[in-house]
Amino acid sequence: MSLTEFELIQRYFNQAHSLRHDVVLGIGDDAAIVSPPIGKELVISVDTLHVGVHFEQHWSPADIGYRALAVNLSDIAAMAAEPAWVTLALSLPEVDEHWLAAFGQGFFTLADEYEVQLIGGDLVHGPLSMTVQIHGIVEQGMALRRDAAQPGDIIYLTNHIGAAGLALLSLHTKKRLAAADHTAIMRHLFRPTPRIKLARALASSSHAAIDISDGLLADLSHVLRASDVGASITVECLPICPVVHQYLPQDAAYELALTAGDDYELCITAPVTKQAIVEGIGQRLHCPMTAIGKIEKQPGLRCLRNDGTPFKVTKTGYLHFQ
Ligand code: ADP
Ligand code: MG
Repeated sequence: MSLTEFELIQRYFNQAHSLRHDVVLGIGDDAAIVSPPIGKELVISVDTLHVGVHFEQHWSPADIGYRALAVNLSDIAAMAAEPAWVTLALSLPEVDEHWLAAFGQGFFTLADEYEVQLIGGDLVHGPLSMTVQIHGIVEQGMALRRDAAQPGDIIYLTNHIGAAGLALLSLHTKKRLAAADHTAIMRHLFRPTPRIKLARALASSSHAAIDISDGLLADLSHVLRASDVGASITVECLPICPVVHQYLPQDAAYELALTAGDDYELCITAPVTKQAIVEGIGQRLHCPMTAIGKIEKQPGLRCLRNDGTPFKVTKTGYLHFQ
């Protein structure tokens, strides 16, 4: 006989993972109770992932579970907050215990790493989809917001971009990659690293931040609009995943890096006076901070080549994958 909804929750989600002292009541009641630290601010974000839209049916359930939490942790990182509590609403077409076990394994691996506790959720019958809501904590006024970039700021990217874009390109066009390259870039797509520690360390030296989920051009433009500023970036400065350069001609690599999403690296702006501090923090935490351009008064986003001529983007990220 198949398990009831409550038995499934008990078995797969009510697990003794990263139990936090500030959780008064976790899974099992009508709602959870947490005890937020006095004098700090709560940072809350939610994301829904639908099969066929945000992930594919045949992806490994452990990767799906890992990624569902990772993209939420990335939003918390982009605010320079400390993640604390998470809820998970899961819609399943059928009860597949192997799938649930693997999904939970991926999800809890990351939850443990960041000491985030699953405090509740929902389990319903329907098309495969999941909604993760995450709650983080930040010192008052210390969150990195999109509306705080200032003219003169240096624009930084963490680590490198383009890997997840190449992974999607390869999946959608059946473009063949060497086995080691395939493994490396699929990992960027399926298991992105939320830059929590880095963002926490950078918060007092930075102005604005956003995580790159929709592509650098799209996401940086959100910062520019919110902050009422513009920017120039130089394509030769973009930290592009080295694997991308092996498979795409130079301009196509630039275009992919500008338009493809799903890397979940951070784009951070910081004043010139903090340059040494910002780059030093990157080195200390083994995540390079690459300067790609400057915030300017003049509205709009200008993509330039080294010689100052404009770099024309012909497609958007999604057109690559149609
Ligand atoms: P209710 O009928 O009050 O909505 P549920 O039966 O949906 O209660 O949930 C019972 C308990 O299990 C609640 O504490 C709820 O937060 C938790 N829960 C339900 N689904 C999940 C899930 N997928 N992950 C974690 N906790 C869950
Ligand atoms: Mg319910």
